[in-house]
Amino acid sequence: MASRIDLYLATGNEHKVDELRGLLRDCPITLHSAAVCGGMPRVVEDGETFAANALLKAAALRPLVPPSAWVLADDSGLEVDALGGQPGVRSARYAGESASDTENVTKLLNALNAQPEPDGRNARFRCVLCLLPPEGPAVDFEGDCRGHIATAATGASGFGYDPVFVPEGHRASFGVLGEATKQQLSHRAAAARALRTYLLRG
Ligand code: IMP
Repeated sequence: MASRIDLYLATGNEHKVDELRGLLRDCPITLHSAAVCGGMPRVVEDGETFAANALLKAAALRPLVPPSAWVLADDSGLEVDALGGQPGVRSARYAGESASDTENVTKLLNALNAQPEPDGRNARFRCVLCLLPPEGPAVDFEGDCRGHIATAATGASGFGYDPVFVPEGHRASFGVLGEATKQQLSHRAAAARALRTYLLRG
């Protein structure tokens, strides 16, 4: 980027704002939460891909930010090899429209009941960050985190599928490994590193 840009984050999740603020702290940007322009509008995430859903979120916030500002949105989920990539873009609502994390995890464990650990249960978290400039097309940055699905939930750290996701090179789930380890290994951190390289390159 030639000069410092104002970047608005298209999420209602302040935890993601803080996380990205940390990951992008040395970039020539001023990061703003959607809260400062009235909050993140509700978006129907009916895209077929993470990139399509991230673009839907970025485009929804675009009219609410200053014309010269940039918008950043993210979308993420879990893909399980033995399930042909499911739950994928349906990760948040795998067990139903308003399913809880516990219901989603239970459905996943049942679906993988007959699959041996670890190779029959290979999976990855994926994240797409969509950067929307004031004019012109969006640019996407991807990150993933490979691992496998455990046979039972363990640990209380994190959210979503963390208690059953064992990252490659580890024997415990993200639920047990905790936030600091996850921050280094996560799909979101990997996508943010790719975005950081782009922003620093100018
Ligand atoms: P979103 O991108 O925040 O909308 O996430 C969609 C869904 O994917 C979440 O509701 C979780 O079920 C799942 N998911 C995404 N990232 C993670 C993660 O880091 N840990 C556990 N589950 C995740």
